[in-house]
Amino acid sequence: MIVAAAHRYVQMAKRLFIPGPVTCAPDVLEATAAPLVDHRGPEFAAVLTGIADALRPVFGTSGDVVVLGSSGTGGLEAAVANSFAPGQKVLACPVGVFGRRFADIARIYGLEVETLDTPLGACVDPAALATRLREDRNHAFAGILLTHNETSTGVQNDMAAQAAAIGDHPATVIVDSVSGLGASPFAMDAWRFDIVVGASQKALAAPPGLAMLALGERAWSRMSDGGAPRFYFDLRKARQLGAAGQTPWTPPVSIAFGLAAALARYHAEGAQRAYARHARYAQAIRAFAAAANLQDLSHPGAHSVTVVALCAPAGVDVTAVRSRLRQDYDVVIGGGQAELAGKILRIGTMGALSPDDVATALDALATVLREQGHAMDASRATAAARDILAEALVAPS
Ligand SMILES: *Cc1c(COP(=O)(O)O)cnc(C)c1O
Repeated sequence: MIVAAAHRYVQMAKRLFIPGPVTCAPDVLEATAAPLVDHRGPEFAAVLTGIADALRPVFGTSGDVVVLGSSGTGGLEAAVANSFAPGQKVLACPVGVFGRRFADIARIYGLEVETLDTPLGACVDPAALATRLREDRNHAFAGILLTHNETSTGVQNDMAAQAAAIGDHPATVIVDSVSGLGASPFAMDAWRFDIVVGASQKALAAPPGLAMLALGERAWSRMSDGGAPRFYFDLRKARQLGAAGQTPWTPPVSIAFGLAAALARYHAEGAQRAYARHARYAQAIRAFAAAANLQDLSHPGAHSVTVVALCAPAGVDVTAVRSRLRQDYDVVIGGGQAELAGKILRIGTMGALSPDDVATALDALATVLREQGHAMDASRATAAARDILAEALVAPS
């Protein structure tokens, strides 16, 4: 019964415009169906080493990349548990739900968390960050928690500017780039970040199940005699076993196959083209929104390339819009989280989506919004998006 239901689901496969999990390419899905191998044998070692090698340029590092069997949150928890001891103080810089969750992880581990507040829809003000750190003359902050891309608000932070704001403050800098990694340039080593966390099911377009962490030398040396009690997520073990092409515990082998295939696709496309694709899709969705009288939640200068959060117009029922799109158009978009529940629509750009998929989804959204009584010129809005997407239709040479 369960298998029959799964097959039926595959036949009805919908286009995912949620910010993870995302639509995976057929060869990525096929890779996950390959026969299992010994996770301590040579075949898996080749896969794991290949994944780390393929990820290094995506993170912008020449250091270690370790892979954990967990979702992105597990990667963030591992970063915190391995870097800080209870009682230490960190500066969290949340700009939405995921940044607040990151701060919550730190609190659960007994850290004293100070928050640098940012208005909803804005990115972190690098000047405010620099000022707060300059005031920290005694270096009370042992850590700084940053979010590259905030999925709940469609906000992207300028990581180069934050790196400059941090300057030579000695805190361990941990970055949640779960919904950013791979979609725009990232230069971990140049920006001197200590730990950067990604996950398989976002811009790299593999199924969920793996967290990926890049760690610099300073993170490892501080870890050797610090951190909180941890067992499953002990990154020192992950590093030690990773050097031998293994993970400390049984990994999700099939998801690793999928991630390896997804990374091969990513590099075949080329990082520059992948950046351009995400930027172009986000730009097309924002052009649609502007022409459709829909307000973008993210402020100018803070726009994410992986998720666009649009304020629901008065009278439009977000739940009804989403279920109509899902049921009648096979298009799945996100709603709002926490205080934004029922107030926004979120459209993701990540995954194996063609320009035509994006255009078709926006056509459907225009139809559904008009049904809901939203006054808009549907043909003008969809044409605005198509104009931008048309440029992306040119096949790479
Ligand atoms: C998706 C996401 C996470 C991790 O979520 P999981 O469900 O644990 O994979 C963390 N941070 C951001 C910004 C995200 O978008």
